[in-house]
Amino acid sequence: MDPVTARHCLRLALAWMLLLASALAGGGPLRTASAAEAPVVTIRGIEAGLDLAPFARILPDPGGRMDLEAARRATGWQTTPNRLLRFGYAPDMAWWARVTLTNPSARAARVVIDLGTSQQDYVDWYVTAPDGQVLLTNQTGDRRSFATRLLPYRDLVLPYHLPSDATVTVYLRLGTHDGLFASMPFRLYDYTGFFTTSGRESALLSMFHGGLAALALFNLLVFLVTHQGAVGLYVLHLLAVLTGSVSFRGFGFQYLWPDLPGLSNAMTAGSIILAFVTGSLFVVRYVRLHRHVSVATRRVVSLLMIAALSGLVPLAFGQYALAVGFSLIGLGLVVVVYLLNVRLLFRGVREARFTVPAFFALIVAVALHYLEISELLPPSGFRVWPLIIGSSIEVMLLAFGLADAMNQQRERRFAAERREELARLHMAEIEREASHKARHDELTGLLNRRAAEEWLEAAVERGQPVAVLHLGLNDFGAVNEAVGHTGGDAVLRQLGRRLETAMAPGEIAARLLADEFLVLMPDTDQARAVIAADRIQRLFAVPQQVSGTDISIACRVGIVIFPVDARTAEDLLRRAAIAMQDAARLPRRIQVYQAGRDDDHRRRIALIRDLRHAAEHGEFRLLYQPKIRIATGTLVAAEALIRWEHPTYGMISPAEFIPLAEQSGATRGMTRWVIGEAVHRMRSWRAAGLDIGLSVNISALDLDDPDLIGFVGRSLEAAGIEAGRLTLEVTESAIMTNPERSRAILEDLRASGVMISVDDFGTGYSSLAHLKRLPVQELKIDQSFIRDLSEASEDAVIVRSTIGMSHNLGLTVVAEGVESVETLALLGSWGCDVAQGYAIARPLAAADFERWVAERGGAGVSGETGASGEAGATDASGDDATSEAD
Ligand code: C2E
Ligand code: MG
Ligand code: MG
Repeated sequence: MDPVTARHCLRLALAWMLLLASALAGGGPLRTASAAEAPVVTIRGIEAGLDLAPFARILPDPGGRMDLEAARRATGWQTTPNRLLRFGYAPDMAWWARVTLTNPSARAARVVIDLGTSQQDYVDWYVTAPDGQVLLTNQTGDRRSFATRLLPYRDLVLPYHLPSDATVTVYLRLGTHDGLFASMPFRLYDYTGFFTTSGRESALLSMFHGGLAALALFNLLVFLVTHQGAVGLYVLHLLAVLTGSVSFRGFGFQYLWPDLPGLSNAMTAGSIILAFVTGSLFVVRYVRLHRHVSVATRRVVSLLMIAALSGLVPLAFGQYALAVGFSLIGLGLVVVVYLLNVRLLFRGVREARFTVPAFFALIVAVALHYLEISELLPPSGFRVWPLIIGSSIEVMLLAFGLADAMNQQRERRFAAERREELARLHMAEIEREASHKARHDELTGLLNRRAAEEWLEAAVERGQPVAVLHLGLNDFGAVNEAVGHTGGDAVLRQLGRRLETAMAPGEIAARLLADEFLVLMPDTDQARAVIAADRIQRLFAVPQQVSGTDISIACRVGIVIFPVDARTAEDLLRRAAIAMQDAARLPRRIQVYQAGRDDDHRRRIALIRDLRHAAEHGEFRLLYQPKIRIATGTLVAAEALIRWEHPTYGMISPAEFIPLAEQSGATRGMTRWVIGEAVHRMRSWRAAGLDIGLSVNISALDLDDPDLIGFVGRSLEAAGIEAGRLTLEVTESAIMTNPERSRAILEDLRASGVMISVDDFGTGYSSLAHLKRLPVQELKIDQSFIRDLSEASEDAVIVRSTIGMSHNLGLTVVAEGVESVETLALLGSWGCDVAQGYAIARPLAAADFERWVAERGGAGVSGETGASGEAGATDASGDDATSEAD
C-alpha cells in the first residue's frame, strides 16, 4: 500500500468514527436532497440570534474547484436537515451554503452571521445583490492570517451592513486542509444581539481561563515548594486544559499568534491530547494505580497514553485531522482510567472519591459537547457551558483531591511525628532509667562506686577540697546469718536511708560493696570529717527491728582528705580503704589515713600474695638460737626461727609475715615446712655428732589443723628422731583465744610424745593456775620482762615469782631475750633454768650454729630431751660473730 492510499484509509477510518455519532444523532448531510427555492430570511427580531440552517441551501463541491459563479449556476443545492453546518470528514471537497436576507424596515440593519467556531480551515464569504452583483468578498478561516477577518473576533463571523429595503444573498464556501470539517452553527444576529451574546460568552470563558490560570499558578507554587510529582502533573494538566480551551475558542489565534494559523491548529489539537494524557497521568499517579491494579492493566494504560501522545507526531506535519483522531484515543484513555478509578472507589481507595466524579464530569462534559454537535440535544444556549462546567468541576475536584491528599499526608506526618516523639520520650525514659541504674546502687538507691568515683574525680579536677569517708560494717555476715539475706537487705536499705538523711546539700553517699559505703564531703577538713564519721557511726548503731530481731550496726570509718592525703581519686579511695582497715584495730573505729600506710599496705598485699608460694620457691630459711642451761652454761637445745628471703623485699622477719600468714590462712604450709626442716636438721646434726633437741613455733591457727599430730609423727618417724626431742612452742595468747579447745589439742599433741612450751608468757593474761591444767613442760618468760631486768625492777618480782611458781608446777623455766651477762647472772641467781638471747647467741644459720658450737668446745652434747634438755655444753660467753642477718 503506498503512503497516500494508507493515509486515506486512516482518514476514512477516523471519519467513520466521527460520523458514527452524527449518524446515531439521526442524520448527516448526505440524507438531504431538495432543490426547492429557499425561503428568504427577514431581518427582524434576531437579537437573540436566529438559526439560518432551515433557510439555507447547501451545495457539495467535489474537488473544491468551484468559484462563486460556478456555485451560483450549480443546480445541486439542497436543504440541510441539521441545525448546525456539519459535513464531517469529506476529503478533497468543499461545501457551499447560501442564504438570502431581506431588510424590510426603513432603517439599515447591521447584522452578523456567526459560525460559532474558530476552527474551520477555509471560510469564504460572498454577499451578492439580487442582480448578481458581488457586494462583498472575504476569504478567511483559521488557515489564513487573523488579519483576514472582517471583524476582529475569535469566531468566524460575517458582519454586514444591510441597507433598508434591501435583499442580499450570502454565499459561504467552507474548505478544509485535510478533509475534516468543523461542526458549526450558522446564526444570524443583529449587532446588539451578537455583541451581547458573544460578550457574555467571552466573559464566561475568560473567567474560566483566569480560574484555570490562577489554579495552575497556585499549584505550580505548591509544586515548587513540595516537589510532589502529582502536583506537577496536575499543573501540566491545568496548563493543557487552559491552552486547549484558549486555542479551541480562538483566543489564542486572536490575541497570541494571529499570524501563525498553523500553530493555532496544532495548539488546539495538541493541547486536547495533552489534556487527556496529563489528566490521566495525574490520576494514575495520584491514586497510586500501580498499587491497586495488575501489571497488565498498567501496561494497557501506558500503551493508551503512548498511543494518544503519538497524535502529536502527525500534528507536527500539519495532519490536523489525524491528530483529532488520536485525541479520541486520549478520550478512550480517560474513560479507561475512569473505570479503573470506579473500581478503586468500590475498594474504598480514598483518592478515588475525588477522581471518579472529576473524570465523570469531564466525560459528561465531552459527551454533552458531542451530543450538542451531533444535535442529539435540542438547540440551546449550551454552546460553551458543558465543557466549561465539566472541566471546571474536573479540575476543581482534582484540586480538592490534591488538597485532601496533602492534608492526609500532613496528618500522617503529624501522626508519625507524634509517634516519633513518643518513641523518643520512651527512649529518653529508658536511657534515663539505664543511666540511673548505671549510676545507682539497686538495693539502697544510693550512688554506686562508679558514680562516686566520677564525682570524686570531678572534685579533684576542680581542686575542691573533699573529705572521703570509707565506711565498713562490722561483721555484716553475722547479720545475714541472724535475719537472712532478705533481712540483711532490709538493714542495708535502712542504713542507706539513714546515710542519705545525714547528708548535707552537696554531700554524696554511695554504696561500694555489700557492706561498704562511701561518703564524700566537699570543703571538709579532718576535724569535721571525724565528727561526721562519729555521727554516722551513732546513726548506724541505732537499733532497727528486722523480723523481730533488734539489729545495731557498728561500723569502722577510714578518712582521707583531698588534697592533704592524696592527689588522685584513685589514691584517695585506696587510702580511705586502708584507713578503714586500720580503724578496725582502734577502739573508736575511726582512723584518719596515716602517711606511709599505703606503701605498707602494698607491701602487705604483695607479701600475702607471695607467702603461699614461698615454701615451694625455697624462700624460707631456718635460723637456730641456742638455749643454754644457766647453771652449767651447757647448750640444751635450740629454737628454730623462720626467715623469709623475699625476692623483692629481701629478708623479712617473722614478726611481719607471720601475722599475715595467720590472716590469710597460709600458716599450715609454713609450719609444716618448719617442722620438716627442723626434724631434718636434728637428724643431720645427730649424724654429725651434734645431738640436740629443737623447738619450733606453731601459731594459733596450727592448733586447728587436725592433721598436725599426724604430720609431726610421720616426720619424726621418717627421720628416726624421738618425739621428745621436738618442742612445740605455742604462745600464751594463742592458747588463751580458746583455752578449752587448746587444752584438748595440746593434750593430743603431748600424747604423741612431743614437748609443749608456752611461749611469750606474761603477755597472754593467763594464770599459772590455768597453766597447771595444761600438758606443758616448759614456760618461756616473755622477753619484755627480761630485757631490762635488774634486781630492783618491777619485772624482777614478776620474773622471780613466775620462776618459783613454775618450778612448783614442775615446769622448766626459760628466759628469752637475755641480752646481757648481768641479766643472765641475775636469772641464774633466781633459779631460772634455761636462757636464750643475744647475750648467748643471735639466731644463727645452721652452718654458723655448728661453728658456734664448735667454738664453744665441740659437740659434746648431752642426750637431754628438747625442752630444757642438756646439749654439749661450753661456757655461755658473749655475742656471736656470725649472728643472724636481720
Ligand atoms: P619467739 O618465739 O618468742 O622467738 C624469740 C624471738 O626473740 C625471736 O625473734 C628472736 O630472734 C628474738 N630474740 C632472741 N633473743 C633476743 C634478745 O636477746 N633480744 C631481742 N631483742 N630479741 C631476741 P624472731 O626470730 O624475730 O621471731 C619473732 C617471733 O616470730 C617469734 O617469737 C615467734 O613467735 C615467731 N616465729 C618465729 N619463727 C616462727 C615459726 O617458724 N613459726 C611460727 N609460727 N612462729 C615463728
Ligand atoms: Mg618461740
Ligand atoms: Mg617468745
